[in-house]
Amino acid sequence: MSGPRRSTPLSQLAFEPRRTGDTRRCQRKVLAGHVSAAPPVPAECDLRHRVQTDPVTVSVFDLFSVGIGPSSSHTVGPMRAAGRFATTLADGGLLRRTTRVRAELFGSLGATGHGHGSYNAVIWGLEGEDPETVDTATGPERAAEVRLTRRLRLNGSHELDFDPDDDLVMHRRRSLPFHPNGMTFTAYAGTEPIAVRTYYSIGGGFVLDDDGSGTPTLLPDPTPVPYPFRTGKELLQQAIDHDLSISSVMLANECARQPETDVRAGLLEIWEVMAACVVNGCATPGVLPGGLKVRRRAADLNARLLVDPGRFRNEIDPLAAMDWVTLWALAVNEENASGGRIVTAPTNGAAGIIPAVLHYAVRFVPGTDDDAIVRFLLVAGALGAIYQQTASISGAEVGCQGEVGTACSMAAGALAEIIGGTPQQVENAAEIGMEHHLGLTCDPVGGLVQIPCIERNAVGSVKAITAARLALHGDGRHTVSLDQVIKTMMETGADMKVKYKETSRGGLAVNIVEC
Ligand code: SF4
Repeated sequence: MSGPRRSTPLSQLAFEPRRTGDTRRCQRKVLAGHVSAAPPVPAECDLRHRVQTDPVTVSVFDLFSVGIGPSSSHTVGPMRAAGRFATTLADGGLLRRTTRVRAELFGSLGATGHGHGSYNAVIWGLEGEDPETVDTATGPERAAEVRLTRRLRLNGSHELDFDPDDDLVMHRRRSLPFHPNGMTFTAYAGTEPIAVRTYYSIGGGFVLDDDGSGTPTLLPDPTPVPYPFRTGKELLQQAIDHDLSISSVMLANECARQPETDVRAGLLEIWEVMAACVVNGCATPGVLPGGLKVRRRAADLNARLLVDPGRFRNEIDPLAAMDWVTLWALAVNEENASGGRIVTAPTNGAAGIIPAVLHYAVRFVPGTDDDAIVRFLLVAGALGAIYQQTASISGAEVGCQGEVGTACSMAAGALAEIIGGTPQQVENAAEIGMEHHLGLTCDPVGGLVQIPCIERNAVGSVKAITAARLALHGDGRHTVSLDQVIKTMMETGADMKVKYKETSRGGLAVNIVEC
């Protein structure tokens, strides 16, 4: 991460058209080791063994990473997996021997990969591109060129034949047992397989390598942190025992890895990318790609709100703030749906909620300065880490409750702290944010992250604000704990039929007429 940066000044939040570069970087994720593994026998996966039981310290920079749309699990994850496979070949001295490389995508990836951009993502990853830096303007052209010429530059340098029809296979009805987002990559020397790797994209851009155990997990980060936690109860206890806010607990843990100035600068940089995404979304009219002909609405809504200064200042319509929140969420998710530069937060499908609620705080909550922005992101990161460690943030695994529900919960807790909430009220807000998303299915129409995803972020953002305010009207005591609601979310996801988990075989995906 580069040196300290200022966050976007409030004056820039009037959403004049502005484009930013595509070169921002964040820290890399803590990821598991690897093993060569042949494709396992397809089977229904059992979610309950997905829960991480060992203490793992997920960094706030793992939860918020800069990537591309439209999907963290179906675009960013496969791209990282393909890139990792190419790197493995290079590191193992196998690159020059490789005459053919083949990628197979299973389960939800196979079912909705086309609409979610998995196809191009695998090509980019095999060519050594990274989600944080891939050029979102020229990337699609390069993928089209690979398809046309049937030539691929493996790891960016080793050119070989690549027939997308045979070498990039979407298995629509086959799954791997551990997780619905499985991928297997094979490299050949002639007809001889010389390397086989299986990876799982478990949501939020996190990728696990199959370690042969049947239950690959995130590797513990060996860095000792002063306030380790895995659950909501443990996080709350650390805050109470040490008389700290939730953000202070998380900041101290982050500072075990890098200086505080770098942590703050990195988070403000994340905020800048979020703000730039909103600006871009507010400046871009037109129709989203993918064939559904979904009209982008943020630009029109932004223009309407700017024309009416009373509404802008919330003076005539007391609920005008809700229109702005809706705008900010729409803007981010329209950028995501068009393959733009996105902060995964904690997934791409749900990437609009945290920026929208943070914009709300900056615009409507007095005193929301850079320090408050940092605290907001730290709290959101702490809460997201709990979901990542003890449950799932993958729509393919637990439905939309794990994506939009988790983002709402993170944003609710974060807002609660910066509007004056105690750690108990933060935990309460986060619990409310998830409780009212329980059972929410994932049924993207046409396999695209557009309907219901875009509006769902707007509604989820408003819910997060309601949850935070509701928690602040209490004293932190409540009946259902955050851990209990997370456990319920995970179990509900396990009971949910596969057709409601990012396969586009149920719900809205089959009940609207495509035209
Ligand atoms: S419905 Fe929810 S979980 Fe499914 S793709 Fe859309 S945002 Fe993601």
